[in-house]
Amino acid sequence: MSLIVNKFGGTSVKSVARIKNVASIVARTAAEHSVVVVVSAMGDTTDYLVKLASQTSRAPDRRELDALLATGEQISIALVAMALNELGVRAISMTGAQLGITTESIHNSARIVDINTDRIKRFLDKGYVVVGAGFQGSTSDGETTTLGRGGSDTTAVALAAAMGASVCDIYTDVSGVYTADPNLVPTAKLLYEVSYEEMLEMARVGAQVLHPRAVELARRNRIKVRVRSTFNLDNEGTILLGADEMEISRPVSGVTVDRDQARLAVLKVPDRPGVAGEVFGTLAEHRVSVDMIIQAFHENRSVNDITFVIKRSDLDLARGLLEAVAARVGAEGVLEDPDVAKVSIIGAGLMDQPDTAARMFGALGKAGINIKMISTSEIRISCAVSERDAQKAVAVVHDLFHLD
Ligand code: ADP
Ligand code: ASP
Ligand code: MG
Repeated sequence: MSLIVNKFGGTSVKSVARIKNVASIVARTAAEHSVVVVVSAMGDTTDYLVKLASQTSRAPDRRELDALLATGEQISIALVAMALNELGVRAISMTGAQLGITTESIHNSARIVDINTDRIKRFLDKGYVVVGAGFQGSTSDGETTTLGRGGSDTTAVALAAAMGASVCDIYTDVSGVYTADPNLVPTAKLLYEVSYEEMLEMARVGAQVLHPRAVELARRNRIKVRVRSTFNLDNEGTILLGADEMEISRPVSGVTVDRDQARLAVLKVPDRPGVAGEVFGTLAEHRVSVDMIIQAFHENRSVNDITFVIKRSDLDLARGLLEAVAARVGAEGVLEDPDVAKVSIIGAGLMDQPDTAARMFGALGKAGINIKMISTSEIRISCAVSERDAQKAVAVVHDLFHLD
């Protein structure tokens, strides 16, 4: 019997009725395959737990925050296992540690370093469905960690890779990957296939539907990942493929928006080797991810301004770090702009159409939307705009490339 991994997100296990629905989907798959199920916390449980923590402490201890957040998934695994047992399917729930998932010792955004699949295999061999908690693992010291928001997708793909599963089905609240967030752009179109590379880029710049690290793992291990709806099983959803396996290549595959961005500038940084390394090395050490880096020169050629975009939630941390670096290297100071949304277009064929960038900027200009920053790569063009322009910008760009 081949092995399939089925992952269900928060909306899919929001209530007891939905958990029973999930159990019936799994029961059908389990009639023909070995199944490992991965589930998220019920509904908005993780948001609720984050809120409890922030009401209790201004800067919650990261270890204790992980101890708290991991409880969300533990509720759903037990209930899903019970619902399966009720249908006559033998099932056993497992926490991240019981799944054998070892992570680095970094709380709140740990990476998986190893999976010891012995226990999972033992129960699958005995005919059980294994119901595993997404989003969590344990360090080699036995400390509970979490993988970052949205990380249950990563648990599912990592298990699929470790177990040699034939397919990893990500069941969610939309029918697959669309040309834009269907809850934001009603005319967005379902993509039947998308390449790992495009999906990775989309996930990194705001398409919440898959966790970026899950896509990275799927690409590296060539895992057949399908994104599909828990609520409409007739629809086959979207399949992730290697670029070489795609039947069609589109200049632009999708538009994304990330509204939680902020812009920072380190002003008049002395123009000498090693300074940029020091600025970004300090941020990297603290896991602050950076995008859209621009280094611009002044009339006075001995200094540069370095500007870039980060997650808004990292702003306080990054400002503190940069003020210290600025003082150390003799820069003038740090400037911040918390009002940033990043609108991006992604497409494997972008570079084949040299006018794409100009068309995007032109359409935004015509709609009266000011562009604060621009960055381009082989398969992505991103514009930083003001938060209040974000939704309109996505609609304008989506329309421009006839993605509907
Ligand atoms: P789950 O709880 O199942 O993991 P998420 O909320 O994490 O679900 O991801 C699904 C959501 O991703 C959708 O409800 C949709 O609003 C959002 N989304 C953003 N961009 C896209 C896209 N391009 N295609 C599909 N969904 C998207
Ligand atoms: N429950 C976690 C979150 O809400 C993980 C996940 O759903 O993927 O981020
Ligand atoms: Mg998710």
